[in-house]
Amino acid sequence: MIGVAVLGSTGSVGESTLDVLARHPDRFRLVAIAANTNAAKLAQQVLAWRPAYAALADERAARELRELLGAAVHTRVLAGGAALEEIAQAAEVQCVMAAIVGAAGLRSTLAAARAGKRLLLANKAGPLLIAEVKRSGATLLPIDSEHNAIFQCLPPGVIPGVAPAGLKRVLLTASGGPFRDTPGEALAAVTPEAALAHPNWVMGRKISVDSATLMNKGLEFIEACLLFGLTPAQVQVLVHPQSIVHSLVEYLDGSVLAQLSAPDMRTPIAHALAWPERISSGVEFLDLLKVGRLEFRAPDTARFPCLALAQAAARAGGLDPVVLNAANEVAVQAFLERRLNFPGIATVIEAVVQRSTGGAIGGLDDVLAADAEGRVRARERIDGITRSAAVRGAHA
Ligand code: NDP
Repeated sequence: MIGVAVLGSTGSVGESTLDVLARHPDRFRLVAIAANTNAAKLAQQVLAWRPAYAALADERAARELRELLGAAVHTRVLAGGAALEEIAQAAEVQCVMAAIVGAAGLRSTLAAARAGKRLLLANKAGPLLIAEVKRSGATLLPIDSEHNAIFQCLPPGVIPGVAPAGLKRVLLTASGGPFRDTPGEALAAVTPEAALAHPNWVMGRKISVDSATLMNKGLEFIEACLLFGLTPAQVQVLVHPQSIVHSLVEYLDGSVLAQLSAPDMRTPIAHALAWPERISSGVEFLDLLKVGRLEFRAPDTARFPCLALAQAAARAGGLDPVVLNAANEVAVQAFLERRLNFPGIATVIEAVVQRSTGGAIGGLDDVLAADAEGRVRARERIDGITRSAAVRGAHA
């Protein structure tokens, strides 16, 4: 029995993970679940699974969880960010699903790597994580469907951060998001609801907006370079509206290997849970006759500048991707709260990255400081945009 911890269990990836685990009770034991504030959903999961630990990063929500569960349930309820790190390192846990959205998942993911766990990574990787994995000998398995696809197309025995011999480049596919065919001039008026209605995937709110801006592809671009030891020139982004080919790897002999499946996160999750074996995932099998056509086209970075901004950050390296990511998280939140329009997300990120001092990553403190700086600058920029809009409104 493999002991599993699901960090971010109340989210979209977390719930898909529980769905796959439920299909294999003879193989996996759910030891721990964790989230941020959603005490009600975590309580339901505790009652259904009876794990040894349940943690909420938010202390007040953890108190609510204790009240909801009462004394009869033996699950230990933990509170605070440190509790998530504790869970990630627990002796009964062999496998950690890291599915906390954004930079909030950084510490617990690093903790799992440091403890040498089998790490199923839905969060984005950074250089610190790759270094930690190499040092501890942890097994890193990417969950993002694109990186998981690339991993599946690589020869056995790949080392994180090291490109296998004979690899020419990677072709990273993108659905293009809900605004793939929306004219540039119409993007200023698109709503959060429209951005959240992804044509192919059901995902959390932040990543859905990132898919609409193509920032998700940009962050994946950065991560592909890190995970597989590639230069930015070795990664090409292709828009593939059907989301059936999840990415491709081209070799020096001209062979191109691809991984195909229905767009459902349970496939990469099941792959990573059982690797190197294969288990059922509950996903519908692919009917290529029904799919009919597989199309590929170049991304339009004029309409979707976030992709180009992320590619520039990948080329610059160091702390630039950290600042970019932080500014994006703040800008996406402002868009969801209708304080910023859709093109404003890229405007804010560009302004923040341009003002950033960048620099090399010496350690976690540098990453946290750059993350904080990116957030402060993004908030300032958004306030500036909101103020000028108010002034324009007053003069109109
Ligand atoms: P969701 O928004 O659906 O879920 C986010 C999860 O993270 C929730 O469990 C949430 O808890 C938890 N969380 C948020 N903030 C904190 C915090 N400060 N401390 C602890 N837990 C926190 O996101 P997704 O499941 O869509 O995505 C999760 C990760 O996987 C992201 O990094 C995303 O980029 C990546 N990913 C997702 C894919 C998808 O298909 N959804 C595909 C590929 C990658 P609570 O409910 O309490 O707020």
